[in-house]
Amino acid sequence: MKFSYKILFCSIITMAAAFGIGGYFFVNDVFRASLNREISQAMDESSILQFAFETAALNIPSKYDKLQNSAIEEIGANLERSSQSTGRLLRLSAEDQTVLYAGDGFVQDREEHTDTEDPALLSVVNGRTRAYQVIRYNGRYYVQTGTQVNALDRVLYLETMQDVTEVYEERARGFAVYRNMTLLLLVCSSIFMYFISSWLTKPIRILTQAAKKMTAGDYGYRAEEISLDEMGQLTRDFNHMASVVEENIRKLEDEVRAREDFIAAFSHELKTPLTAVIGYADVLRSRKLDEEKHFLAANYIYTEGSRLEAMSLRLLDIIVARRYEPEIQELEAGDLFAYLESIYAEKKEFQFRFAFEPCRVRAEADLLKTVLLNLTDNACKASEPGGVVEVTGARTEEGYLFSVKDQGVGIPKEECRKITEAFYMVDKSRSRSHNGAGLGLALCVEILKLHQSELMIDSMPGQGSCFSFLLADGEVPT
Ligand code: ADP
Repeated sequence: MKFSYKILFCSIITMAAAFGIGGYFFVNDVFRASLNREISQAMDESSILQFAFETAALNIPSKYDKLQNSAIEEIGANLERSSQSTGRLLRLSAEDQTVLYAGDGFVQDREEHTDTEDPALLSVVNGRTRAYQVIRYNGRYYVQTGTQVNALDRVLYLETMQDVTEVYEERARGFAVYRNMTLLLLVCSSIFMYFISSWLTKPIRILTQAAKKMTAGDYGYRAEEISLDEMGQLTRDFNHMASVVEENIRKLEDEVRAREDFIAAFSHELKTPLTAVIGYADVLRSRKLDEEKHFLAANYIYTEGSRLEAMSLRLLDIIVARRYEPEIQELEAGDLFAYLESIYAEKKEFQFRFAFEPCRVRAEADLLKTVLLNLTDNACKASEPGGVVEVTGARTEEGYLFSVKDQGVGIPKEECRKITEAFYMVDKSRSRSHNGAGLGLALCVEILKLHQSELMIDSMPGQGSCFSFLLADGEVPT
């Protein structure tokens, strides 16, 4: 069942219960008040009649010592006549409960014609106690009162009976009106609640639709935020989750693509030298060549073989670097620059400029040297003979910044992101002529990852490039 319908039905049930119970108590309360009013009126009139009877008895001429039954009957008839307008009936009984006078219509047989639980009203009546009861007779309701009357040495019982069916009918009418009103209110409020519940559950429908779209592959779809309450928060959280999922999927797709590119590039890089090696080896074994051609063929096999070996060693370095746990130490920048200067001292075709601020950096020495050598070699490969290659080290707020700068060919902007991928070369023939295989920067990136750092590339085609990275710095040596 739809959530909005659940809200709707729950509200209807709650409203029906509230209206029903509230209405029952209200109508019943009004009924009780009316009935009590009738009862107290009947009781008041019962006392008035008692006094009236006693007064009338005293006024009878004293012919007999005791009050005669005929006189009782006469007084009873007179009293009933005087209260005829109220519709009240009278009954007078002797001490042994023998009926001496009963108004026309008074319930004669106490035991058989009443539906009350305790019809023996007079059994509880005495000189001090008056009693009443509500009885049902022939489908009508009556309040019956009973009191004791003492007149001229006689103890009598005076009973009254008043029709209160009207009060019961009013209660039934009240129930009917309330029931109809409740039904009407329920219908109106159900229509109103239907719109409210569908408005309340709108964010859920929007989220469901967004989830369906995402399941169908539309990872960029976002649910519309239409409220600021908990539902709005849920939508925001959902959208945030969707963004994270989308980002992760994009990363996974990038990884898969990078892996496929890697395999394609790797097979390509293997195929070219292997074809040449196989070709030259075939020539060597199938034909007798003169000494010079024999040397050339063998040399080709040797250089291509060496290139393959260098490539496989680089690949191995990258794979090892990915799983390697570096031994980080504090190194003096001065020592590193002294090492670089010594390496490039013999390379006279470029103008090397080394400059650094003294500082200690946290790194594994061999790995850091590999990165710096790779970047400096690349700078040389990109430069024309006589070109300037600057290697600098400077302290910054974020750490110690190494930069390798050249004024060489530069790299087009769109290639900058790709050159750190394995086997990627901007100018393949130029790179190959320098024995490059597009693995140096990939290795640098892996090594820098081990040092929680990354390679920053700033380059302008035709003007040169600057490769830099930050390392955590230590104390400044004294
Ligand atoms: P390679 O072994 O070919 O040098 P790298 O991974 O070190 O491989 O470099 C990848 C490619 O990036 C190179 O082939 C080159 O095209 C480009 N590259 C690297 N450094 C520079 C630079 N300083 N200036 C211009 N291009 C560069």
